[in-house]
Amino acid sequence: MDKDKKLLWISPFVVFLGPQLAQMQLYSSTADLQKALRSEKSKRRSVGLVPTMGALHSGHLSLVKRSLYQNDITIVSIFVNPTQFNDKNDLAAYPRTLDKDLNLLSSERGEIWVYAPQADDIYSGDISSKKYDFKGLDRVMEGPNRPGHFEGVATIVERLLRIVRPHHAYFGEKDYQQLLIISRVAKQKRLGVKIIGCGIVREDSGLAMSSRNQRLNSAAISEATFIYQQLLWAKRRFTSMNLSKIKEAVTEAFNSNPSFELEYFEIAEAAALTAHSERKKNKKYRAFIAAKIDGVRLIDNLAMN
Ligand code: AMP
Repeated sequence: MDKDKKLLWISPFVVFLGPQLAQMQLYSSTADLQKALRSEKSKRRSVGLVPTMGALHSGHLSLVKRSLYQNDITIVSIFVNPTQFNDKNDLAAYPRTLDKDLNLLSSERGEIWVYAPQADDIYSGDISSKKYDFKGLDRVMEGPNRPGHFEGVATIVERLLRIVRPHHAYFGEKDYQQLLIISRVAKQKRLGVKIIGCGIVREDSGLAMSSRNQRLNSAAISEATFIYQQLLWAKRRFTSMNLSKIKEAVTEAFNSNPSFELEYFEIAEAAALTAHSERKKNKKYRAFIAAKIDGVRLIDNLAMN
């Protein structure tokens, strides 16, 4: 072994990951992960879970850093979950970059276990979604536009939470509707985990970081900042303009931009996601956009007040 390479864990599950700051282990087997977790939990070590689909970027790393700060061990799951894709082409095109992801994580400080299972293993052979009652949170925006998406997300997240039994689990506000739905499911199912929402990490241009950005060429990347600009525009008008008028104007701006295909623009109350045409006192609002550019579907959102 090279002298600058360190094997930090003496365990049959360790995969050597090169010169690194993080103490890293890689598990592909659910049974192996659970066995190792039992041993750590018996020593009263706290565990944080960061579920991801890989192709990691600084947005994911912000969740990882938060977990490393709050827990003894951080489990980063990397799994492109087939049941949450309503579009087969989108699933096939989703970037898979495990080596790069491991490399990126290895520069963090702390104890990181990467859990990268195969679908048959994590689903115990039955790769299908369960039914949930999301109490209406799925009736708007991503729900109707991606049929079956939230069932797929909730199924895999519930599965991950039951496998890992973390003290904390971290989700980005980038997928704000998903964050609310997962918080609801964790409560309904009494999963005994604290769900922690983390702010959106953006490029300097304002574009929300996303694994899907990797599928865009540089011209499309710079054009995609239009999404954030429209959210900012809506925020500037939020107190002075009727909400329906803001919606009309943003929709018109997208329709006049030939690079984009707008799926929705909504301004909704931030806790229940109900759309209003008038602002209500003492309520928080967020604006939400889903739009395609060069066939790649991007989403973003911003607090209005
Ligand atoms: P994904 O790999 O896209 O499923 O994302 C995994 C987690 O990272 C989800 O909780 C996302 O909301 C979160 N995430 C993705 N992009 C960002 C971002 N730009 N800022 C903050 N969190 C993010």
